[in-house]
Amino acid sequence: MDFNLTGIPAASSNNPDGIENVVILGAGPAGMSAALYAARADLNPLVITGMELGGQAALTYIIENYPGFPEGVGGMQLGELFQKQAERFGARFEFDVASEVNLSSRPFRIKTYGKEIQAKTLIVATGASPVHLRIPGETELTGKGVSYCATCDGWFFKDKKVAVVGGGDSAVEEGLFLTRFASTVNIIHRRDELRAGAILQDRAKKSEKIRFTWDTVIKEIRGKDAVEEIVLQNLKTGEERVEAVDGVFIFIGHKPNTQIFGGQLEMDSLGYISTDMQMRTNIAGVFAAGEIADPHYRQVVTSAGMGAAAAIQATRFLEQGEV
Ligand SMILES: Cc1cc2nc3c(=O)[nH]c(=O)nc-3n(C[C@H](O)[C@H](O)[C@H](O)COP(=O)(O)OP(=O)(O)OC[C@H]3O[C@@H](n4cnc5c(N)ncnc54)[C@H](O)[C@@H]3O)c2cc1C
Repeated sequence: MDFNLTGIPAASSNNPDGIENVVILGAGPAGMSAALYAARADLNPLVITGMELGGQAALTYIIENYPGFPEGVGGMQLGELFQKQAERFGARFEFDVASEVNLSSRPFRIKTYGKEIQAKTLIVATGASPVHLRIPGETELTGKGVSYCATCDGWFFKDKKVAVVGGGDSAVEEGLFLTRFASTVNIIHRRDELRAGAILQDRAKKSEKIRFTWDTVIKEIRGKDAVEEIVLQNLKTGEERVEAVDGVFIFIGHKPNTQIFGGQLEMDSLGYISTDMQMRTNIAGVFAAGEIADPHYRQVVTSAGMGAAAAIQATRFLEQGEV
């Protein structure tokens, strides 16, 4: 399905041979920004969005650290603005998922659920997905009280007790967001101090609804049709106890979405795609940008910057006639 925020029907490739100049996999900040830059280079890029239009950024209620928005900007709203801006210059968006790629020869071939696409250059911006706890009850109760997105599900926990797992920026930020709805938010962290930034920590510590459970992990999530209780274990004493909760929000990190590139693109031991400073991968004409290639910064602004760089490089690659 092609769709377009500006109301103009999405066009097909401008090339007579039907081969795309630039295909971008992913519509998070990296993919959107790559789309804007490639569109402004008149390359008529095609973006395959995957299931999450706007990427992880669209999952969060507000983003306060993306420059240009002094009052902050809604995560979903930012995604829409990115898309609109890229479409204004000719980027095309397709709501589809890449299921297979063949990068062994050019043009590259990308299979989606809907079709097969050929491309002169490829920008991989498939980002990352939440890491799961892998404990009993987690999978069974996902969508029934277990969640990885406070913005999406927080509303269901009005005046309820929730647990948040994690100690980084996402855990604390989303824990703070949940105080809008929940009666109490218990932030459970395996260490005795948070990794979150100072401002977030300060806000959380001042909140009357938030409490912290240190040095502790969740061993099991229990409930018949919905979450009812969690089994906690203190890592220092080994002591176990059961706590009644209505929801469990898990923010313990992300893993890169690189499965379909295995055996073709070089990756580090954690599965992040290896690039040089110009976002080039081991295959000429294939670039990677955003969290897929960045285990260090993982921010909207850095991902968007990498997306821009990848598109500039793809443009140069095409100009140099390397195809
Ligand atoms: C809850 C939460 C709150 C956050 N808050 C902030 C914040 O306040 N400030 C900040 O700077 N950062 C924040 N971040 C981090 C920020 O959202 C990410 O760093 C950023 O979104 C990464 O951008 P990306 O484009 O690289 O990848 P992602 O945002 O992960 O986007 C990946 C894209 O790839 C697509 N995709 C995946 N697989 C496929 C496939 N096979 N085919 C096609 N498409 C595919 C997905 O649908 C998605 O569109 C937050 C993250 C989370 C989870």
